[in-house]
Amino acid sequence: MVDLQAQYLRIKEEIDAAIQNVLNSTAFIQGPQVQEFAEALAKHSDNTNVIPCANGTDALQIAMMAMEFKVGDEIILPVHTYVATAEVIALLGLTPVFVDVDEKTFTIDSAQIENKITSRTVAIVPVHLYGQCADMESILTIAAKHKLVVIEDVAQALGAEFKFSNEEVKKAGTIGLIGTTSFFPSKNLGCYGDGGAIFTHDKELARKMRMIANHGQQIKYHHDVIGINSRLDTLQAAILLVKLNYLTDYTQRRNKVADFYDENLKDCQFIETPFRSPQSTHAYHQYTLKVKTIDRDHFKKYLESKGIPTMIYYPVPLHLQKAYKKDGFGEGSFPVTEKLSKTVISLPIHTEMTESELVYICEQIKAYPQHA
Ligand SMILES: *Cc1c(COP(=O)(O)O)cnc(C)c1O
Repeated sequence: MVDLQAQYLRIKEEIDAAIQNVLNSTAFIQGPQVQEFAEALAKHSDNTNVIPCANGTDALQIAMMAMEFKVGDEIILPVHTYVATAEVIALLGLTPVFVDVDEKTFTIDSAQIENKITSRTVAIVPVHLYGQCADMESILTIAAKHKLVVIEDVAQALGAEFKFSNEEVKKAGTIGLIGTTSFFPSKNLGCYGDGGAIFTHDKELARKMRMIANHGQQIKYHHDVIGINSRLDTLQAAILLVKLNYLTDYTQRRNKVADFYDENLKDCQFIETPFRSPQSTHAYHQYTLKVKTIDRDHFKKYLESKGIPTMIYYPVPLHLQKAYKKDGFGEGSFPVTEKLSKTVISLPIHTEMTESELVYICEQIKAYPQHA
């Protein structure tokens, strides 16, 4: 699905030097590269404030801790997402309130959000799934009307941009009050282990989140708020400092792969290529097809037999997971998400794909014996 080795080899010298530098300094925790990376990423992100942390899940948790939501407060999120989004809500004693997604964009169906708002609702967490922004314009309007906080989960969409109807363009993660992202190795900006970051334009909130990520202290051994241990390692920051210079190039490379798939699979009647939203550029963390007239799992096995890896994001919707099941929400509660869980399939997409690999994959897809 990704070729992290080829990606590393292309920038090996720079990466090795950056790592060696940290080894020589032995400043493994809070070395200068952490702050340097935060500043570089802030510059890259419309000069917002950046708080590095240990991973994308913690980023969400720190954001919600900083908002001081109370036990039982309700957080609205899409039911078609990675588990981390719901997990931190539940961990903090908050109540995840699922909303179905739009069948075309795979992101939260903004038309269904207001139905789910109650007097306990405090926030909306849109997830820019697969790399394309959710309908942020409607979400911001709803949030403003009901005085809700918007926390964008940008773990899959770093590098994407949203275009408002007044032509204003904003980077994913800098649109809501807070944005959170992940540097998990396979993410669009991946480090060589775990890493994450939080974005906010609000300076005071940034200061608070920086404290929470570091045991609630600003001055060592003076704990003003309850915090957690969630720092970005210096080694990872050094790696990210190098790789950030390539993020725009990486995004373009992914887009080229997507363009190739779109063009070469457009006449394939039994699948549907991903929708391109006029409101958002796409970072193509995933290139996710929907099967129409064929059995998805049979198609997956067929591609596997041809040496083509595929993935299903996600095979079991959150409301049907043992850990997140709630009375009254069984099979049929979120029909679009349930359908997607049976029809989506993601093809390999990464920065190192060659034309011959792409030609081969498309040929094999087109040759699929539909009635086998
Ligand atoms: C990867 C991911 C996360 C979590 O990031 P980690 O760094 O793995 O903790 C959260 N939300 C979404 C949508 C993700 O894809």
